[in-house]
Amino acid sequence: MLRDVLQQIEQRDRFVLTSHARPDGDAIGSALACCQVLRAMGKRADVVLHDGVPRIYRTLPFADEVLQANHVGGNYEAAIILECDSINRTRLEGLEDRFLISIDHHVSGRPFAHVNWIDPHAVATGEMVFRLAREAGTPFSPEMATCLYTALMTDTGSFMFQGTNEHTFALARELVLAGADPSHCARNIYFAHSVAKIRLLGEALRNLNTERHVGWTWVTQEQMNRCGAKEEDCEGLVNYVLSIGEVEVAAFFRELPDGRFRVSLRSKGKLDVAHVAERFGGGGHKCASGCSVDGPLAQAVHQILENLCHGPSVQ
Ligand code: 5GP
Repeated sequence: MLRDVLQQIEQRDRFVLTSHARPDGDAIGSALACCQVLRAMGKRADVVLHDGVPRIYRTLPFADEVLQANHVGGNYEAAIILECDSINRTRLEGLEDRFLISIDHHVSGRPFAHVNWIDPHAVATGEMVFRLAREAGTPFSPEMATCLYTALMTDTGSFMFQGTNEHTFALARELVLAGADPSHCARNIYFAHSVAKIRLLGEALRNLNTERHVGWTWVTQEQMNRCGAKEEDCEGLVNYVLSIGEVEVAAFFRELPDGRFRVSLRSKGKLDVAHVAERFGGGGHKCASGCSVDGPLAQAVHQILENLCHGPSVQ
């Protein structure tokens, strides 16, 4: 599959790269790094994201070149969609009629593109971009290494999530040797929050509930407005619920402007939350997944909790 992707890239010159809406560290880091790989191969490439670059990722090399748009125009010969299982999740128009290449590591990844390279064993899509760069023979610049290290660090939960193994650390080593600075990368992500986000965390912690092995919390539109918080400020709040000793699975509910709820699910490993999210039209990984459900809040919580209490175990 990697060979197919490279072959398709070699045959073309102009690329647009994108990822899912509300991009996380792997989405941004792997798209920015892949863009640099293509440019090093002599191609023209742009990164276009529906939601632009969230505040904590704006110090990444070339993040200021990312285009924020609802529509992809231009005469791109192919679109490379990273860390994303459908055109829909990019929330971009104008991709449908293009030649599509998908690079994804989600266990719920679907082959929606013309060429699909899906590897659920990769701990981050950034790992796959690293392999692509190596196969293409492009030299690793410190900028590329910084983007890939950030993808790896964030998608492994700072090298703590299940799936992190000796290969992950070997890859991290390569990236550090190529110029990524671990403490600088960590500082830019974990010590760069807005005041609004920390105020919103306070609201979320006030709404905290636990029942046996399940923990959950939520924030409403009203609470977000009161804190001056944006969508991106909700990223990672679910991890505070999962940090409780007794909690095996955690859910975070964010009220959407239309009254539905965006749900983030996390597991310490005994329960497969990708399966639960898929039942509601979402997806993700065994230990981290997401979906949307109808409101009101009580109904949204009830539906998800019922599935978390009787969900499938991780094999
Ligand atoms: P988060 O809770 O941080 O939004 O998402 C956790 C993981 O689940 C990420 O890997 C993300 O890409 C995936 N995910 C979240 N929402 C969805 C969704 O609606 N559909 C799919 N396929 N994956 C999702």
